Amino acid sequence: LSSAAQDVIDEIEENDVDFLRLQFTDILGTVKNVAVPATQAEKAFTEGIYFDGSSIEGFVRIQESDMRLKPDPETFAILPWRDGRSARLICDVINTSTGEPFEGDPRYVLKQAIARAEEMGYEINAAPEPEFFLFEEDEEGRATTNTNDAGGYFDLAPKDLASDVRRDIIYGLESMGFEIEASHHEVAEGQHEINFEYDDALTTADNVGTFRTVVRAIAAQHDLHATFMPKPIARINGSGMHTHLSLFTEDGENAFHDGDDEFDLSETAKQFLAGILEHAPAITAVSNPTVNSYKRLVPGYEAPVYVAWSDRNRSALIRKPAARVPAASRIEARFPDPSCNPYLAFAALIHAGLDGIEKGLDCPDPVRENIYEFDEKKREEYGIETLPSNLGEAVEALEGDEVVQSALGEHIYEKFVEAKSQEHDEFRVDVSQWELDRYLEKF
Ligand code: GLN
Ligand code: MG
Ligand code: MG
Ligand code: MG
Repeated sequence: LSSAAQDVIDEIEENDVDFLRLQFTDILGTVKNVAVPATQAEKAFTEGIYFDGSSIEGFVRIQESDMRLKPDPETFAILPWRDGRSARLICDVINTSTGEPFEGDPRYVLKQAIARAEEMGYEINAAPEPEFFLFEEDEEGRATTNTNDAGGYFDLAPKDLASDVRRDIIYGLESMGFEIEASHHEVAEGQHEINFEYDDALTTADNVGTFRTVVRAIAAQHDLHATFMPKPIARINGSGMHTHLSLFTEDGENAFHDGDDEFDLSETAKQFLAGILEHAPAITAVSNPTVNSYKRLVPGYEAPVYVAWSDRNRSALIRKPAARVPAASRIEARFPDPSCNPYLAFAALIHAGLDGIEKGLDCPDPVRENIYEFDEKKREEYGIETLPSNLGEAVEALEGDEVVQSALGEHIYEKFVEAKSQEHDEFRVDVSQWELDRYLEKF
């Protein structure tokens, strides 16, 4: 046993943990788990836990049937519910016939992106800002879209009735090792944000899955439904997952910082940024992967629509936030939403950025005006492209972008496109309430 694995076994004993939940995610980012008695921990570390991959439900099934879960001891955490008797370990998925990592495992895809950055001499830090809504449940315990408060941005109780729920969520997250930086009521009624400390990209992607699980579970204890659906209510703000990224060199220098630059951004940062702009339409398929994602990416709700960056305004796709210290120089991708698979979305962003560095792409000038107010002519003049306007267009952009395709790897790329094309087609042929309201009696 490795010493990290031995530490986990000791903690299991000290804390009387009865069950271990061995977790991984499917292509859609849904956390899957197999529970084993804690007495199996040693075996899980030495031999792994075998399971039948073909019976993993989800939109896309993991096709190969014999899989092995290899727990990552660094991810051990006791779950803040079930009286602290259950713990989880996040696992890598191994293909039993080859003994190699399974290329359909999203965590492996992100590890590949991180490895590419490492070869180029960089470590990647990431910090997401997942927003979510809290909704009331009906008598049967099903989610409604009734918000339980009428608060707005940074409001306090009593307008923000959910601050107790947010506090409990924060306690839960902290008990699982999260460092919470801030939490606040977001712009829309019933909408919230809790910010946690940045970390390396893999830990952060693991954290996003944990975050969504904890938020939903603790909200449910308060009879509320937490949703990360990007746009649950039309005509008010949707929920984004802004993602802050920076590269550090091996000796701990922030490779994105240059104090002599007007924007404090190094050439490396600008090339990385240019890479993301260049591949943005294809990345969108991964970072904004639902039909509903595109209801959020419309003008007027603080979500981006146009492919541009800015050091000021929040209508841009990428923003350069003000940094207090050089180590904090970073870029903020504002288009991802919290319905994405964080492993795949980060992998797509990272590969696109590294591609920008490798090709030495030129970074366009920032756009300081409110881009929502630009007309087509002005956008053309500035050379500003528009993001895909629906999932179908995003999938098409992905099909035409080899960099983002290879970021996903062949296996996931194929399964992903298949699932997402089908999702878009189902939506396309559906007849919505809006259409019935508009046309049924008119024609
Ligand atoms: N909710 C907005 C979005 O969709 C962001 C609002 C904010 O964080 N200022 O991205
Ligand atoms: Mg924020
Ligand atoms: Mg926010
Ligand atoms: Mg933000």
